[in-house]
Amino acid sequence: MLKDKDRIFSNLYGMKDRSIKGSMQRGHWDNTAKLIKQGATWIVNEIKGSGLRGRGGAGFPTGLKWSFMPKPEAKKPSYLVVNADESEPGTCKDREILRHEPHTLIEGCLLAGFAMGAHTAYIYVRGEYVREREALQIAINEAYSKGFIGKNASKSGWDFDVFVHHGAGAYICGEETALLESLEGKKGMPRMKPPFPAMAGLYGCPTTVNNVESIAVVPTILRRGASWFSKFGRPNNFGTKLFCLSGHVNSPCVVEEEMSIPLKELIDKHGGGVRGGWKNLKAVIPGGASVPLLPANICEDALMDFDWLKEQKSGLGTGAVIVMDGQTDVIKAIWRLSKFYKHESCGQCTPCREGTGWMMRVMERFVSGNAELEEIDSLLEVSKQIEGHTICALGDAAAWPIQGLMRHFRHEVESRIKTNKNSHLAAE
Ligand code: SF4
Repeated sequence: MLKDKDRIFSNLYGMKDRSIKGSMQRGHWDNTAKLIKQGATWIVNEIKGSGLRGRGGAGFPTGLKWSFMPKPEAKKPSYLVVNADESEPGTCKDREILRHEPHTLIEGCLLAGFAMGAHTAYIYVRGEYVREREALQIAINEAYSKGFIGKNASKSGWDFDVFVHHGAGAYICGEETALLESLEGKKGMPRMKPPFPAMAGLYGCPTTVNNVESIAVVPTILRRGASWFSKFGRPNNFGTKLFCLSGHVNSPCVVEEEMSIPLKELIDKHGGGVRGGWKNLKAVIPGGASVPLLPANICEDALMDFDWLKEQKSGLGTGAVIVMDGQTDVIKAIWRLSKFYKHESCGQCTPCREGTGWMMRVMERFVSGNAELEEIDSLLEVSKQIEGHTICALGDAAAWPIQGLMRHFRHEVESRIKTNKNSHLAAE
């Protein structure tokens, strides 16, 4: 279990003063200029050395992503965009940073912005996060009034502005290029890639889009050193991570833990255990709604990191652990996710626009058992036709939960269809 002294987020639960005064007492904004004066290359190399992988779901190495940004040139500005559009069902970690630890995010923006040659950061906040946006704005105003950001930010010689943009509640705006479109004032629809944002992002200028948590951990990594961060977790999966525990646990929570922590330990120590005990566990979605679920027998030995979960054909995603106990109708649970993705599809590409609705309707019939057994394979086939054939990852996100369901609970779907058929025969 992670020791308190190793926690980056010491006010995750908002029990302490979240103002700039309280944040400074906890070590934020402590001689930020000294870190900046070590140079952009040093910052990028430290982040690379720390092994930090993006905390928004994809797990791409953060330092490497920053190094894709071209050298700053006068004609085109570079931008840092922070993705605070946290909308993946089950995920509620960035919210705690926005409302209780906003200063480590703002300081992270300055450091990351400097490292990639950006004088401006935009933080795109999810539409529903009204109080969070207010807390963040208060913190930004405080940082301006102290001179920590703005002209000659923190007396570093670097000018840096931070703007908050409030979204309107569309899930798809969490996709980085849809987010940029929305920020530009257009409909939030994903762009074709390439070009990638590092080449042509916001207003056609070099842009890096990072998750809130990925940026908020930067100041502490730079202060404590890359080797401190990489002490935690297995190789290639270093660091600490915010996990969100929800569903059928006794105490749902958001907690910072070491990467690669056993899932069982995470649930038992921080979530108060599965409702009805570990033996009553049916399945867990380990990384937010879009990743395939794992049945109880695999959860027994599961390690919460990118590589272990990928090997099990699931994923760490955002670290949002959704627990389902033995009383859960797992078919209905996955149908509900299908409904979500169908609702959130932007409709731009055919496989996703048509496929998500098609899958949802078939899943709806599987819930009642009003289907043919052969439809299971045709549903899987359609999910494969969607996966990897769309502009953005929403198509994959809609397909994977269904594939996970059939991989581990096909017998339940089959038995419901058979039971439904038998009951009709008996009634005839
Ligand atoms: Fe839009 Fe879906 Fe295509 Fe993404 S995959 S661009 S959400 S239609």
